[in-house]
Amino acid sequence: MKKAIVVGGGISGLASAFLLKEKAKAAGIALDVTLLEKEKRVGGKIWSMKNDGYLCEWGPNGFLDSKPQTLELCDNLKIRGQLLRSNSSARKRFIYADGQLHRLPEDGFSFFKSRMISWPGKIRLSMEPFIPGPPEGVDETVAAFGRRRLGAEALQKLISPMVSGIFAGDTETMSLKSCFPRIAELEREYGGLVMAMVMLARKKRRERAEGKVVSSPAGPGGVLTSFPDGIQELTDFLAERLADGTIVQGAGATKISESRDLPYQVHTENGKMDADILILATPSHASASLLLELDPEMSSVLKGIQYSSMTVVCLGYERDRIAHDLNGFGYLIAKEDGMKTLGTLWDSSIFENRAPQGKVLLRSMLGGACFPEYIKLSDDEVMQRVKGDLRHIMGINEEPSFVRIFRHPEAIPQYTVGHGERLASLQEKAEQHPGLILAGNSYRGVGINDCVASANNAAEAGINRLLKR
Ligand SMILES: Cc1cc2nc3c(=O)[nH]c(=O)nc-3n(C[C@H](O)[C@H](O)[C@H](O)COP(=O)(O)OP(=O)(O)OC[C@H]3O[C@@H](n4cnc5c(N)ncnc54)[C@H](O)[C@@H]3O)c2cc1C
Repeated sequence: MKKAIVVGGGISGLASAFLLKEKAKAAGIALDVTLLEKEKRVGGKIWSMKNDGYLCEWGPNGFLDSKPQTLELCDNLKIRGQLLRSNSSARKRFIYADGQLHRLPEDGFSFFKSRMISWPGKIRLSMEPFIPGPPEGVDETVAAFGRRRLGAEALQKLISPMVSGIFAGDTETMSLKSCFPRIAELEREYGGLVMAMVMLARKKRRERAEGKVVSSPAGPGGVLTSFPDGIQELTDFLAERLADGTIVQGAGATKISESRDLPYQVHTENGKMDADILILATPSHASASLLLELDPEMSSVLKGIQYSSMTVVCLGYERDRIAHDLNGFGYLIAKEDGMKTLGTLWDSSIFENRAPQGKVLLRSMLGGACFPEYIKLSDDEVMQRVKGDLRHIMGINEEPSFVRIFRHPEAIPQYTVGHGERLASLQEKAEQHPGLILAGNSYRGVGINDCVASANNAAEAGINRLLKR
């Protein structure tokens, strides 16, 4: 019997363990899989908490159905029928800029009608097709790309909010090719974004004519999807499928070393375990500590991946005390003087059953790479900033009747300039450790879909390794 150990019980680790078992069964390999999670609960950043009739998401509130990975995992778990799609009004996303909320335009016509970007900004944007291609051999920041191709105003009002919405990141440090590889690819492939949009719109029209499902062009594309009891149902279903003794909770790995019998030995607070295949689905900083003895250089590269911190504040109000129609997804804030939050999601408008009858649930985000000091704020200081922004942006003067504050000191990995080189170096070093596989959100995407994709790749690599030996 071969042995595999997965360290980390977030979505990446749970999906890795589940898919490893499935793939081993399909390949006829007898494989004993153990998942080690240091906390007493699994799920990692995914945690849906029910409190006073509100459903508060500690971290993510769903995944986008525009990529296939999580949907395929749900098929595999036979839970696709239990998915909950966000309300159609959630397609309406807003940006707060120049002192007001603007609906994010969904097409070229509404974009040119929108007052979000000034006329000089629109004229600058319309020059996009004539801007030369990317500089060769440069790992460009998202900000440099935005200024070069679209102009400073589009960077501030379109790109920066998107970067804070996905990474809680700073455009001045984030690498375009690592954060948005598709955009970098489109620029290279079509010579520009407008040309790429024209060509892709043609493709979509063709697909629609052929009766294929085509995602909405609003927001980052696709429909936000979750479950009636929150996104934690996904990790709960995975944990249920692994409830055959695979998961060991409250058992943090402390060190990885070479073993006498099998390639790897995992040290935990409770003892040592040997493995043929070792998947580290832990955040890169945790993997760095684990690998310090086995490969100090690999550990040092992993340590170079920085994380942004974030504070999430859930606020409940009586519906009839809020004048705003809350008809939409919520808003992100373009870097604006005086604003302290990154944005606010109207959670009870996005999904059913997120607030008790007659009440609404809002979720504000603070911190990120642009406000790293915010993670140290007291509850009072957090609330002062959140309420100030809600008053200013949505006219809410009411005290919330429900508040929960969640702090993530290491919320989201930052793919800063040099991330591509760090990945290449990790790949090179990992080749010296056959069967040691890195998975999770620290490398090639932070969305749930990306984590599931990394789990799939990790499981595939593990099985291939076992087949080779
Ligand atoms: C506030 C917030 C909102 C987000 N919103 C969205 C969203 O709406 N949609 C979306 O797609 N994505 C969203 N994301 C991103 C997404 O949630 C994460 O990227 C994803 O959940 C990370 O999963 P993971 O398994 O890779 O890592 P984690 O969830 O961080 O799991 C890692 C696990 O490893 C464990 N661990 C660490 N060290 C050890 C050790 N030594 N031994 C054993 N176990 C260890 C940890 O306890 C943890 O359980 C959001 C993230 C945050 C923070």
